Amino acid sequence: MATATIYNIVDVLKAAFPTGAPLHTPVLDGNEQDYLNQCVESTYVSSVGKFVDQFEELFAKTVGAKHAVATCSGTAALHICLRLCEVKPDDEVLLPALTFVATANAVLHCGAIPHFVDVSQDTYGIDSHSLRNYLQSATKIIDNTCVNINTGRAIKAIVPVHVFGCTVDMDPVVEVAKEFHLKVIEDAAEALGSMYKDHHVGTLSDISAFSFNGNKIVTAGGGGAIVTNNEKLAKIAKHITTTAKISHPWEYIHDQQGFNYRMPNINAALACAQLERLDQFIKNKNFLYQQYLELFAPIPSASIFCAPDFCTPNHWLINLVLEDDIAPYQQELLENLCEQKIQARPPWRCLHKLDFLKSCPHMDLPVSEKLQGNTISLPSSSHQKLQLD
Ligand SMILES: *Cc1c(COP(=O)(O)O)cnc(C)c1O
Repeated sequence: MATATIYNIVDVLKAAFPTGAPLHTPVLDGNEQDYLNQCVESTYVSSVGKFVDQFEELFAKTVGAKHAVATCSGTAALHICLRLCEVKPDDEVLLPALTFVATANAVLHCGAIPHFVDVSQDTYGIDSHSLRNYLQSATKIIDNTCVNINTGRAIKAIVPVHVFGCTVDMDPVVEVAKEFHLKVIEDAAEALGSMYKDHHVGTLSDISAFSFNGNKIVTAGGGGAIVTNNEKLAKIAKHITTTAKISHPWEYIHDQQGFNYRMPNINAALACAQLERLDQFIKNKNFLYQQYLELFAPIPSASIFCAPDFCTPNHWLINLVLEDDIAPYQQELLENLCEQKIQARPPWRCLHKLDFLKSCPHMDLPVSEKLQGNTISLPSSSHQKLQLD
């Protein structure tokens, strides 16, 4: 019975994608070519140029924040966000077990230790209830610092990640963070265009990070951005991502350890053209999402994930959720779709299961583990259409 349902899902997707489909590919049919030509003609292809400034301005406006600083990757942006929140070597940082590995890598780049918390199946993001219960039993507050009773280390910050374009239920998470003296840094890499209540993601914390990698809703080829309403933080972010050089007509003077994390102008040119199309990309993805709802409505034991009312998602990746009876066949389903050249993907292997992270502290993670095993991301490019009869 369960395997019959699996083959039913494969058949339905085969009919919708007769020649297969990629998971997510960029659409570059706006001003991309034009801006790239302008960039090459100007010879300003590298670390300075008008497209970087233009992109930072347009990006801040798009997300409704005062400042945006462009970087060479989302991971670099996160690293700087954590540094600006004074995450130091040997501190711990809370993050979900169900996220892309880059979130944990950015913590490690600070010399700090990732500490994994569980997520909610309503959002795939951090769950404030289990978080509060856990922190009440596993930490104590000493001199306004949250201390892990087990390790004796300070827990400095928490990184809610808006995965797949669905938003974390931020209000209660921010409340718990306040209670436990934690800085909040949003990892909004996957959620450009997603709204939590009336606010764009990335503006619900002190500072946040976005990514423009090739698989994201808007791409710079590679790139990222730091977003904040705090002018002082924005200035430091710009300064240390550009080698901490003091402005001077000819001298090279650097006032602290810095990073070469800037976004090259040629990437910014691509990013400007892409960002102009964001509304259209979301509109198209919303249409695709409606098509998927229709496609799976008659299928038992599987349904398309729907975001809660407080979230207006960008539908970056559209997910199919398998009920308990067919979830054990997730790998079989993936294998069959792979044979049909339909690129479907499970969520990331939970981070506490990766060899290099398995000694990191974590709470019980039943929901993260369940979602890893019962979810499949479906082809979700903004130019993708399903063939429905
Ligand atoms: C893509 C991504 C990142 C990292 O962005 P890069 O630009 O690839 O460095 C971080 N966090 C999440 C959740 C991501 O999906």
